[in-house]
Amino acid sequence: MVEMVRAAVQTGPRTIEMREFPKPVTGADDGLLRVEANGICGSDVEIYRGHMSSGRDPFIPGHEPLGVIAELGDRAAERWGVQVGDRVALEVIVPCRACDDCLAGAYQACRFRKYGHGVTGIDVAPTLWGGFAEYLYLSPNTVLHKIDRSLPVEVAAMYNPLGAGVRWAVGLGEVGLGDTLLVLGAGQRGISAVIAAKAAGASTVIITGLESDGHKLEMAREFGADHTVVVDGDDGQDVVEVVRDLTGGRGVDVALEVTPMAARPVVDALEATRHGGRVVLAGLKGGREIPLVTDRIINRALTVKGAFGVDATANEKAIALIESGRFPLERLHTHTFGLDEVDAAIETLAGERPDTSAIHVSVHPDHR
Ligand SMILES: [Zn+2]
Ligand SMILES: [Zn+2]
Repeated sequence: MVEMVRAAVQTGPRTIEMREFPKPVTGADDGLLRVEANGICGSDVEIYRGHMSSGRDPFIPGHEPLGVIAELGDRAAERWGVQVGDRVALEVIVPCRACDDCLAGAYQACRFRKYGHGVTGIDVAPTLWGGFAEYLYLSPNTVLHKIDRSLPVEVAAMYNPLGAGVRWAVGLGEVGLGDTLLVLGAGQRGISAVIAAKAAGASTVIITGLESDGHKLEMAREFGADHTVVVDGDDGQDVVEVVRDLTGGRGVDVALEVTPMAARPVVDALEATRHGGRVVLAGLKGGREIPLVTDRIINRALTVKGAFGVDATANEKAIALIESGRFPLERLHTHTFGLDEVDAAIETLAGERPDTSAIHVSVHPDHR
């Protein structure tokens, strides 16, 4: 008899239903992951609302999968350097691993990639491409990273936001010893950037948030943020002024923008950065145009970088940071949901539910 696998399938905006699919048959080059957890981020919210998923319905969402290898072919074991029972974290992109971009390490630019975790439709065999399922298919070109199996599941599942913090603040922003950093936005990625920057030796880290982000700003301070700035409400502060005060009028070395949809923080990031500094833009604005005075970029000799996802190097460093136990990351995890509650999980992270205390949220298929 064919064993069946339960999965949450998105069939349209805000429509997720439970379905069962046959467990894939694996061979020498591929494998099967028993999903332990799948983290949820702002992209999941946008995908759920239908802003980022047109044309792929129906599909199994979940692009931050963590799990234990349940089945593995001989050649796959050799290629990945893992064995059955190992815990691994997966990357979203399944690149071709053969084109010029892939060979140069820029596999995120791969034009020949055919699959993506949490992205590929269920019409593509063998169906199980997303993390909101009991099992996920490990395609021969999957990029995976080994991670300590003794860590609590929800902490190991933070490899993705932490990887973003490492990649965006330290990788692209080049934050190093003694540098000052402004993080605009206090979600799990903003807080992760604080952690990464502090681990890299940043001297002063300033983070902004909304009045409703009180618990997140407090958490950011616990993880090393030196100053928090609330930008809205009656006591709202002008972040550019605050930065000038704190840096003796100079501006920060690096600004990282991670807010969803808002235009103002992009302008603030450019205004708050010192001459010759670096600005990293990571907060998607849903296609909105942002009013921009490009003279500021020229006259301040700024380097502006777009942050597209996380790469393997950043993921490895993030995992090393998690495994070091140096930061009490479990404090960031606020909600665990089961496979039947994917909609509740996403709506909780989005702040659409009465409980607005979410920071890190994950779906665990075996959670009851
Ligand atoms: Zn994500
Ligand atoms: Zn390629």
